[in-house]
Amino acid sequence: MADAAKTTEKTSSYIGNMNTKKFHYEWCSSVGQMKESNKYYYTGTRDEMIAKGYVPCQKCNP
Ligand SMILES: [Zn+2]
Repeated sequence: MADAAKTTEKTSSYIGNMNTKKFHYEWCSSVGQMKESNKYYYTGTRDEMIAKGYVPCQKCNP
């Protein structure tokens, strides 16, 4: 795994929905409605989530 040292962007904990391909902050209300089996836990940058094919949630706007 490449270290985060090469980027200046802050990392956060995100939760992606493997079903809808959206991603959220942990506190987003949509996360509570998500099935545990659909959750993809990821700690990294927003750009990395997008690179994985996830789209930012419009509610929590990660
Ligand atoms: Zn959200």
